[in-house]
Amino acid sequence: MGSGTLMFNNVMTLEEIIEKVYQDPENSYSEIAELLMLQDRSEIERLFSFADSVRQEFMGSGVLLRGIVEFSNRCSNSCFYCGLNKDNKNIARYSMSADEVLDAVGEMHSMKIRTVVLQSGEDRELDPIWLAGLIKDIKKRFGLAVTVSVGEKSHEEYKLWREAGADRYLLKVETTDPKVYSDSHAMRKLGSRMKCLDDLSGLGYQTGSGLLIGLRGQAIESIVKDILYLKEKDFDMIGIGPFISHGDTPFALDRAGDVELTLKTLAVTRIVTRNAHMPATTAIGSSGGDHRVKALKAGANVLMPNFTPSRYKRLYSIYPGKACITERTDNCISCMRGKAGSIGRFVDYSVGHSIKKNRIFNMEGAIYE
Ligand code: SAH
Repeated sequence: MGSGTLMFNNVMTLEEIIEKVYQDPENSYSEIAELLMLQDRSEIERLFSFADSVRQEFMGSGVLLRGIVEFSNRCSNSCFYCGLNKDNKNIARYSMSADEVLDAVGEMHSMKIRTVVLQSGEDRELDPIWLAGLIKDIKKRFGLAVTVSVGEKSHEEYKLWREAGADRYLLKVETTDPKVYSDSHAMRKLGSRMKCLDDLSGLGYQTGSGLLIGLRGQAIESIVKDILYLKEKDFDMIGIGPFISHGDTPFALDRAGDVELTLKTLAVTRIVTRNAHMPATTAIGSSGGDHRVKALKAGANVLMPNFTPSRYKRLYSIYPGKACITERTDNCISCMRGKAGSIGRFVDYSVGHSIKKNRIFNMEGAIYE
C-alpha cells in the first residue's frame, strides 16, 4: 500500500492533526492520510482514544444489537473477494422459507432484540413481492425495525420494500476508487452502486454503507477519499471491515486486509462522521482473532448477533473463519454482554434508529422510543 505523493505536515502535533480532521475534514486530506499511516503504538492509541470520546459524546455508552438473518446465499454476481459469488460451485445454495425467517425473528424478539437485518446474496431471482410480504409480516407480528441488505436493486423494488415497512437498508460501497472497484467486480459499475445508495436515501431509508479494507490495489489515498465520500453522503450507518481471503474466489491468494488499518479507518471515520451508527463488524471479529472489542474502543457502537439457523450459517460463507459460526444464539447474546461489560459499556436493547437530525423517519412501520 503506497503513500504516493502525499505531503505531510511536520509542524503540527498529533492532537492538532486530529483536531483539524475533526473540525474541517473536507480540507484535511493529508492529515487524514497521516492518521491512517500512523505506526507508533502510543500514537495509534491516542487516535483510538479520541474516536472513543467522539463516540461517547454523540452515541453514548450503549452497544446496540442488530440481529442478522442471512436468509439466502444465492447470488447472481461475481465479486472477486466474496465466497458467495455465482462462480463458486463448491457451496450448496439455500433460501430460507418465510416461516423459517419468521421463526428466527421470533427468537431474536424473545431475546429483546428490536432490529432485524435481512441479508442475502444479490439474487436476480429474489421475488420482490415475497420479500415485501415478509417485511409486512415481521412488522405486524413483532414490530421490529427492519433492515434490508440484498444488494443493488431497482428504484421500484426499493420503493416497494420501503412501503412494506422496511426502515433501513445496508449497501456497502466497498471502495470509491473506480479502478479498485472494477478490478474486484466483474460486470459491475461503481456508478450503479452509488446511484442505488442515492435512491435509498431519497426513499427515506436510514441508509448504511461502508468499506472493505485491503482490496487489491487499494492505496491510502483511496481510503481517504472513501472516508470523505462517507462524510459527504451523511450515511446513517457505516460498516468497515477487513478483506479476508476465501479459497474459492479469484482473490484466494491475496493477503488479508490489515486489521490495524481497518481499526484506524474506523476511528477516523467516527471522528469525521460523528453520529453514524457503526458496527464492530463480524469480519473484524474473524480476522486472525476477534478484534471486536478493539473496534468498540475505536469508535464502534453496534454489534450484530447472528440468528441464521445453524444448518444454513456455515453455507453463508462470504469469507472463511467467520466468528461465532458454531455458537448458539443465546450464548452469543451473553458473550456480547460480556464484551460490552469488559470495557465499561452496556448492551442497549433499544431500537437504535438513526440519530441524524436531517432525516424524518415517520413512515408507517417505524418504531419510536
Ligand atoms: N449482497 C449484499 C450483501 C453482501 S455480503 C450486497 O451486495 O450488499 C455483506 C458484506 O460482506 C459485503 O458488503 C462485503 O463488504 C462483505 N464481504 C464480502 N466478501 C468479503 C470478504 N472476502 N472479506 C470480508 N468481507 C467481505
